[in-house]
Amino acid sequence: CGIVGIVSDKPVADRIADALKRLEYRGYDSAGIATFDQGKMDRRRAPGKLTNLKARMEESPLAGNIGIGHTRWATHGAPTEENAHPHMTDKVAVVHNGIIENFRELKDELAIDGYAPISETDTEMVALLVTREMDRGAAPFDAAAAVIKRLDGAFALAMMFKGEENLIIGARQGAPLAVGHGDGEMILGSDAIALAPFTNKVTYLEEGDWVAITKSDMRVFDREGNPVNRPVSTANTGA
Ligand code: GLU
Repeated sequence: CGIVGIVSDKPVADRIADALKRLEYRGYDSAGIATFDQGKMDRRRAPGKLTNLKARMEESPLAGNIGIGHTRWATHGAPTEENAHPHMTDKVAVVHNGIIENFRELKDELAIDGYAPISETDTEMVALLVTREMDRGAAPFDAAAAVIKRLDGAFALAMMFKGEENLIIGARQGAPLAVGHGDGEMILGSDAIALAPFTNKVTYLEEGDWVAITKSDMRVFDREGNPVNRPVSTANTGA
């Protein structure tokens, strides 16, 4: 399973697919990609091999210079298209590796406010929580910050927001996530192998970190929300 996210000045969909291919070695049962373009968030998902996803993208390409992608190793819900990531609302798209341990409590809480999931995944609670924050008036950054604090379990996350063509937020707790510093773009990936086609300048997030990336910079925060400095290193991936 793996995660990729790119905020760029160039189209991203095919490059996200290529990066996911490099994460195949981690194993997966389904895959998906979402992009945001001209005010519209859209996604393609497919059970099985990445070639299935690529076939869907050829039939119906995804435009846009910002996007997130995922290979899923199902833990909550069968490996169907409906359960495949990204999970999306009219406000946010989310990909996630790991398990949100407190998803049942979150689900009950969200139900009271009228937010009901479509899929059987734990992940969709993250999308619904962010949506509720944004519906209450929070800006994407603040909505994500508030929600990340509430998640228990092991996760690597990436999310992008309707109306924000220059922001992806990622988080890591018990699952790896790295930031690539590209040329006119920033990339999130599960490891340096995924980032290698774009850059060898890599920041490894530490446990509990979360990060906001734009085309040109990154801001990293610790679990408490304090800004922290994480070094940029040169990855040796042989690519
Ligand atoms: N728990 C999530 C799901 O079942 C993510 C699984 C994964 O790590 O890919 O959809």
